Amino acid sequence: MNAMEHLNIPPANHVKVLGGQGWVGLIDHLGSESTIVNAARVSFGKLKNTMDDRDVKLLEYLIDNRHTSPLEHVVFTFSIHCPLFVRGQWHRHRTWSYNEISRRYTEIDMEFYTPEHLRRQSENNRQASFDDPDFADGELRQQIAAHNQLSLELYDRLLASGVCREQARGVLPQNMMVTFWGTVDLANLLHFLQLRDSSHAQYEIREYAVAIRQLIRPIVPHVMDYYEKNLAENAPGK
Ligand SMILES: Cc1cc2nc3c(=O)[nH]c(=O)nc-3n(C[C@H](O)[C@H](O)[C@H](O)COP(=O)(O)OP(=O)(O)OC[C@H]3O[C@@H](n4cnc5c(N)ncnc54)[C@H](O)[C@@H]3O)c2cc1C
Repeated sequence: MNAMEHLNIPPANHVKVLGGQGWVGLIDHLGSESTIVNAARVSFGKLKNTMDDRDVKLLEYLIDNRHTSPLEHVVFTFSIHCPLFVRGQWHRHRTWSYNEISRRYTEIDMEFYTPEHLRRQSENNRQASFDDPDFADGELRQQIAAHNQLSLELYDRLLASGVCREQARGVLPQNMMVTFWGTVDLANLLHFLQLRDSSHAQYEIREYAVAIRQLIRPIVPHVMDYYEKNLAENAPGK
């Protein structure tokens, strides 16, 4: 990475979400599937560099039996560009490590999320929403974009009047885009995916979880096969 590259620019290996307004990128990773089986076999003192069918069976056995510590030797660092409300949900996952651009330091590159379409509120579940193809949301979406812009103008006015950044940022809405780095091991990432790649999760964070599956599949293909067959909400075996 260029030392002066701005954090708001996605890394080369990234997936766009939220109609291109957000993205998640893979910054770095440590380990592979053979790291997992080697970690499981460390007690025998025998290490291998390649994966065969027995190793794949061992991988599946480990996940199936919640023998998750070998999976913790595989670690991923992602860069995530998302609305503040998605970040709030994400940061509840305490097993990740996070760092984020601070609005106490910079006001450049401020962006705001405007949903591509609005969903209706579920009547029997306060945490749920549904798509209504007849929902004429064009004017409401324009109002959201105008509200985002007005909040930015107020923020700029507060800064121009000498108000400190740490107080001025309070007027910025939940739709403000933020960028953070998150690092997590594979065992905890599978737990995250089970919770957030789910119909119970909010649509927006689910898009990020699906994108993460795409990013890590080339690194841990058998683990992702197992996840999709057995752990994911819509897995055939569930
Ligand atoms: C659909 C959905 C709806 C939600 N709604 C709400 C809501 O209305 N209000 C709300 O407040 N939250 C809500 N949450 C957040 C939820 O309660 C969890 O905080 C979040 O999903 C993180 O899960 P976690 O604690 O398992 O993950 P992590 O923090 O990554 O922890 C992973 C696992 O590590 C262990 N662990 C981590 N820290 C501790 C600890 N301190 N003590 C003991 N064990 C620990 C636990 O086994 C935990 O499952 C919701 C989450 C989802 C997916």
